[in-house]
Amino acid sequence: MSVLDWHDAQHFDRTRDLPCALCARPTPMRSHHGEPVHKVCAEDWNDQHPEAPRHRRGNRDHGTGRFHNDPPKK
Ligand SMILES: [Zn+2]
Repeated sequence: MSVLDWHDAQHFDRTRDLPCALCARPTPMRSHHGEPVHKVCAEDWNDQHPEAPRHRRGNRDHGTGRFHNDPPKK
């Protein structure tokens, strides 16, 4: 399994847990699009959908990118 680099503070919402988009259990983790998702769930999804863009169903469009790493810091 490929491990995502999500060290940036943007991936952790200390104010609240929301249902994970993939497993529906509460999580403080957020994707780059602000989507609530466990890091391990995102890694698992990437592994199972190696070529697929990520489409969010429902009334919010979080874009079509796959879960990805933080950009390198200088
Ligand atoms: Zn999850």
